[in-house]
Formats: sequence, C-alpha cells, structure tokens
Amino acid sequence: MSVSATDISIKKVEKSRLSEVDFSNIQFGKIYSDHMLIANYEDGKWKQPEIMPFHNLTLSPATTFFHYGQAIFEGIKAYKGPDGEPLIFRPRDNWKRFNKSAVRMAMPEIPEDIFIEGLKALIKLDENWIPASEDTALYIRPFMVATDEFIGVKTAEKFSFMIITSPAGPYYSKPVSIYVQDQYVRAFPGGIGFTKAAGNYGMSMYPTQEIKKMGYDQILWTDGFEHKYVQEIGTMNVFFVIGDTVITPDIKHDTILAGVTRDSVLALLREKGMKVEERTLSIDEIAEAYKAGQLKEAFGTGTAASIAPIASLTYHDVTMQLPPVETWETANYLKKTLADIRYGRVKDNHNWVVKA
Ligand SMILES: *Cc1c(COP(=O)(O)O)cnc(C)c1O
Repeated sequence: MSVSATDISIKKVEKSRLSEVDFSNIQFGKIYSDHMLIANYEDGKWKQPEIMPFHNLTLSPATTFFHYGQAIFEGIKAYKGPDGEPLIFRPRDNWKRFNKSAVRMAMPEIPEDIFIEGLKALIKLDENWIPASEDTALYIRPFMVATDEFIGVKTAEKFSFMIITSPAGPYYSKPVSIYVQDQYVRAFPGGIGFTKAAGNYGMSMYPTQEIKKMGYDQILWTDGFEHKYVQEIGTMNVFFVIGDTVITPDIKHDTILAGVTRDSVLALLREKGMKVEERTLSIDEIAEAYKAGQLKEAFGTGTAASIAPIASLTYHDVTMQLPPVETWETANYLKKTLADIRYGRVKDNHNWVVKA
C-alpha cells in the first residue's frame, strides 16, 4: 500500500512560537519551527505519517541507534519566492540520496510520497518560518534512526523517519581557513563516505576539534591510502580553479558525498561553457599550481553554506593564501546564479525548484 499526501494526519500547535523569534539575528540550527513530521516503520511497513507540534521524544535507553549508530540524515533548504511562496531546492535529489544512505546502513527505503509530500505539507504549514532576507532560508532536516529496544548487535526492525525545520542565516560569515588532513581519514572505498550517515560526522569531531584549536575552520580530507588525493571539506564538496579550469574530485569511489550543490554547480559551469574536470586531484598538484600563481579560487559547496570561499589552505608547514574573494569570477558567478534560481528571481530552466 502506498501512502499518499492525503493520508498525512496534521495536529497543529495551539499557539505558534513564531513571534518569539528574532529574524534579524538567526543562528544556524538553534531554533525549530512549530511543527515536525514523524513516520514509523514496523512489521516491514511504513505507517501513516503524522505532522504534529515540535516536541521532545521519549525513548528507551536501549534504543538501538544510541548504541550502534544506524542513523542517517539529509539537508535541504526552502527559500521564500518573490510572492512569499515557499520554493524547495531539488528535494527529490535528497530523497534519492537518502535512500542510498538507507540501503548502505541496512535501513528501509522511504517512499517518495512520504518524503516529498510529507515535506511539502510540513513546509506549507510552517511557511511563515521561512526568513525573507538575502542569504537566509528554512533549513530542512529529514532523518531516520533505528528504534528497536534491544542491545544485541543486529540489524534493527523498527525505524523512525522524522523531518524538523529551522530558520537559517549565512553559515560562514567570512572565507574559511582550511587544514589539509593527512593523518586522520574520513572515507575509503567500500566504506560509507558516500552516505549521510551519522557515523561520518561522529568520527570527524576529534580531528576537527584539534585543527580548530590551531585556528583553522575546517578540514580538507585526503584519501585513505596515500593521504594525498583531496576528497572534501567537513560538510562540503570542494572546487579549485587552476588556470582557466575548474576541478573537483570525482565521486567514482564511493568515498565522497555526491552533493546536490556540487551537481548544480557542475551543471551551471558546463552551461556557461567553462572548462570543468571531475578527476583525481592531489594536494601536490594544488601546491604546484599555487607556486606557479595558477591557483585562482578554491571554494566549498553545500546546502548549508551554498558557496563558501576558501581564504587559505594549510598543508604541513605551508600556507597557501588565496587572492581576495572580490576578484573571483567563478565562485561569485555561481553564488549569484544559484541564489537567483533558489529565490525564484530567474526562470528555473532545470526544474530544480519545487513549490510546497
Ligand atoms: C551534505 C554534505 C555535502 C554537501 O551536499 P549538498 O547536497 O550539496 O548539501 C558534502 N559533503 C558532506 C560530507 C556532506 O555531508
């Protein structure tokens, strides 16, 4: 039986918390909108999704994801369109990626109806929570956890899928300083680097804490064998402009998260007729280009930060300082073009934007 949008039960808050929110000063991920969605999976089936007031959960301490980490998530944004209508950016791509993560983590795939129609119903209901100013959006966090009350190690049979949303401002206030990590490893072929599984982030906390103490913002991860081919940054894919070519690591080896922003950026660059390469890229090649004055731009891409310019890259005792961001043609073009599409200011030729 497939669940359809009309099956979603909706219980509204008695009083909205909206008036308590200071939209002129939003910090990322601190406040949550009035409502959330929950759908449970039991006996091999998804149950009816429910939208209800945002609330705390009551769980047994034996709940399996606390112990063994069967937990995955997604990140999507809804923007306020020219007439105030909610515009969701490429949610079906996130739904597909969510199911890839689910399969790899032995979790049930979620039907498109629950994910997409549930998401739309939730956003429609809380549309007044979408902030209006430039660089702001409603951040949408779908996630799934294993909920068996059992501490034996085995694949769970019960799962909860939820969606919460949170008004969000700019993620980074200035260009980021990056530390090239060649001691700790994020991902390797056969692992879970291509999924948005909780464990990928858990394992990154310690190395990230160490480099923050040294004054850097984020890690650029390298490959697990030779520690010399760049993969991605924290929660972003990475692009380098070397000479007149835009280069990003390829995603063939299941070590790198296939970002929706990455895919959008590649499409926009190719349409513009720019030279684009998806390939293996070593830190030595980047350092050589820097020495030759050919490293023009470097930036991260992701839903939370959109396009995040890199101020500097530190590899061992060498710091490569990028030119001032104002002079960057590619990153600035991408940031503006993506924003114009997301906020509905230009025609969406790609069918990327979905109305709630
Ligand atoms: C979410 C994420 C990205 C960016 O993906 P988008 O779909 O563009 O938001 C990149 N790398 C990692 C590790 C991520 O978790």
